[in-house]
Amino acid sequence: MRIYLALFFSLVLTVASGQKKYVSVKKAMKLMGTAFEITVVAQNEDIGYINISEAVSEIERIEKMISSWNPDSETSLINKNAGIKPVKVSHELYALIERAQKISEITDGAFDITYASMDRVWKFDGSMEKMPTELEIQKSIEKIGYQKIRLDADAKTVFLTEKGMKIGFGAIGKGYAADKAKELLMSKQVKGGLINASGDLTTWGTKATGEKWMVGIANPLSKEKVFSWLPIIESAVATSGNYEKFVKFKGQKYSHIIDPRTGYPTKGIQSVSIFAKNAELCDAMATAVFVMGRDSGLHLINQIGGVEAVVVDSDNKLHKSSGIVFDNNQ
Ligand code: ADP
Ligand code: MG
Repeated sequence: MRIYLALFFSLVLTVASGQKKYVSVKKAMKLMGTAFEITVVAQNEDIGYINISEAVSEIERIEKMISSWNPDSETSLINKNAGIKPVKVSHELYALIERAQKISEITDGAFDITYASMDRVWKFDGSMEKMPTELEIQKSIEKIGYQKIRLDADAKTVFLTEKGMKIGFGAIGKGYAADKAKELLMSKQVKGGLINASGDLTTWGTKATGEKWMVGIANPLSKEKVFSWLPIIESAVATSGNYEKFVKFKGQKYSHIIDPRTGYPTKGIQSVSIFAKNAELCDAMATAVFVMGRDSGLHLINQIGGVEAVVVDSDNKLHKSSGIVFDNNQ
């Protein structure tokens, strides 16, 4: 499934709203190794671009904190000290890790930030010629386990208890950054906007026209056609999909998302979109539901208030959680 954004305006659009005029200003850029698009509703174009640059600084600040490529980040420091000693971190990173742990608990380890210590026995760049052996797969997940992260709330320390363990925020960081950019802009009285991190997106207010922000759910059988439009009001959506990265053995399609509990790539789902108040939860739960599979994943989502899901399975069938109502008249 692809998520289409209903953004029917050029770069800057002026709309009269009551007495005041507002413009929508939109900018696309690469941040956190991914394509971001930031749209703000502002009094004028100059203010809009200033707001966007403030959001960009916020996202860059978060990237600095969570990136494992940057050897000086707090995250790298935690990883370097795995099996050695606890590392004192900022309140912010501590809290993010704590929330990630909660998601691991409710998803029974389907989402796990220690995923980062997995040996790359699966390659999704076309270079793989045979399946890894059972032993290689077993070994690849030896260091994984969210239970092995020791958190000390008083000292604000994080300790990865085994050497070789690593944490990474690949499946939650984009969402978190989108949430924080939105929070910052809201605190600066920006009346509406949309932060889109390659399909993981969050909104507030309305478009300059006063219309709701909408996302289109693509028809899985005819990807160019929108199956239904869903409003995203003061909330977020994130999608995990395997249409880009996968490997095929004996006719089976293995996706780039690997179950951290078994070491095997997940099967059965093409894409998952999660709808919730914040993008961080959407981002993480999209990965978790992907790993859990269609039935267990939707079952879990149906038990969490304020969280909804749309799943496209490998037979191109669309499934949804109980709170999603499609509007198919369009
Ligand atoms: P996308 O790249 O499509 O946005 P995700 O948001 O699902 O996909 O994030 C995928 C990334 O998350 C992977 O590249 C990997 O770094 C990390 N990851 C993969 N599986 C898991 C998992 N089960 N738990 C936590 N992180 C994961
Ligand atoms: Mg994700």
